[in-house]
Amino acid sequence: MPDFETVIVGAGVVGLAIARALAAQGQQVLVLERHSRIGSETSSRNSEVIHAGLYYPPGSLRAQLCVEGKEMLYRFCAENGVSHRRCGKLLVATTEAEIAGLEAIAANAARNGIADLKRLDAGEVRELEPELRCAAAYLSPSTGIIDSHGLMQALDGHIANDGGEIVLNTAVTGIETDQEHFRITTQSGDEIAALTCRNLVLAGGLGATALGRMLAYGPGYEVPPTYPARGHYFACNRRVPFQRLVYPMPVGAWLGVHLTLDVSGRARFGPDIEWRDDVDYAFDCDDGRRLARFEGEIRRYWPGLPQGALHPDSVGVRPKIYREGEPAADFGIHGPGQHGVPRLVALYGMESPGLTSCLAIGAYVSRLLDFSD
Ligand SMILES: Cc1cc2nc3c(=O)[nH]c(=O)nc-3n(C[C@H](O)[C@H](O)[C@H](O)COP(=O)(O)OP(=O)(O)OC[C@H]3O[C@@H](n4cnc5c(N)ncnc54)[C@H](O)[C@@H]3O)c2cc1C
Repeated sequence: MPDFETVIVGAGVVGLAIARALAAQGQQVLVLERHSRIGSETSSRNSEVIHAGLYYPPGSLRAQLCVEGKEMLYRFCAENGVSHRRCGKLLVATTEAEIAGLEAIAANAARNGIADLKRLDAGEVRELEPELRCAAAYLSPSTGIIDSHGLMQALDGHIANDGGEIVLNTAVTGIETDQEHFRITTQSGDEIAALTCRNLVLAGGLGATALGRMLAYGPGYEVPPTYPARGHYFACNRRVPFQRLVYPMPVGAWLGVHLTLDVSGRARFGPDIEWRDDVDYAFDCDDGRRLARFEGEIRRYWPGLPQGALHPDSVGVRPKIYREGEPAADFGIHGPGQHGVPRLVALYGMESPGLTSCLAIGAYVSRLLDFSD
């Protein structure tokens, strides 16, 4: 008998949502996390937006799990007292030249099953948000914001209530399989230990590639490499005159310097994008040039941004599985159909909209494990 039925590596929002789904089905679940707190990497360094699913290619996992996950998340928040607000977002074309791109996104959203977008001309936008300048916009009423820490605490509570366990300060350093069971080596401080399990889920975020490479696979399968892409946020030290989130037109797969609000009303702008070889959470002011770039981007839609209102806030790192300039990759949720290892699910490239999609990802992974013998 293995020590545990299912081990999940990584206590970010994705690992926790998967653990919650499996524990709710009656599985004996153990979550292993290398840090001293849950959700201390990407899950606590993001925009906290519940995305509607406008941008992702129709039929992709990102589109499917975002659209499905958004409604699951709103329901979960309401039932579990997690702070959130369906505040809506304005996607704006700041010039006439951007309107064709705006319409293309609206058409894509319709193909993803989003039927609530509302087209607004410049005057209608000014009625809603008097300080916002644009040539045209779409209002997305189902976009919202969420307290991501509150969400992870609620998931933690569900896992515990269903008999699951989360062990912190424990890094997974080795994985072997004899096709029946997995043998996992862990390190907690100086202490090395081992445990066995029947099912294994790797939800390691930026560490997913290193985890996946601990196992051997047959010919034809390669663990996706991770390419970190850093994003900086500036916070605004004044109350912004907007009720809704504001997104400019995306540039490739980057959503542009957007305005997000958190559930307490605090405004942040970002994230920008910087492809790197390492994971570095230090805020790099770039000798003042970063602030100047942000102010320029923001004044395209908010000309009234006061001088000196922005100050450095936080940094997040996207776990991308494609290089700069390549087409954006879908979520890489790999079951035995891809890698050939029974009862293993490994998740790669879980960037945005991973927070929005987490509950749908939990359901998806539990279906993959059901059919993975
Ligand atoms: C800048 C930015 C903005 C974003 N904005 C949004 C947004 O507004 N809306 C949205 O829906 N999504 C957004 N996302 C995406 C969202 O934040 C992620 O998809 C989600 O947080 C990923 O969760 P995760 O659990 O996969 O990863 P993580 O939160 O990184 O968790 C992975 C965990 O695995 C642990 N781990 C790794 N290796 C090991 C090991 N060997 N042993 C033990 N533990 C290990 C790590 O310590 C970590 O805690 C954004 C992402 C970024 C970077």
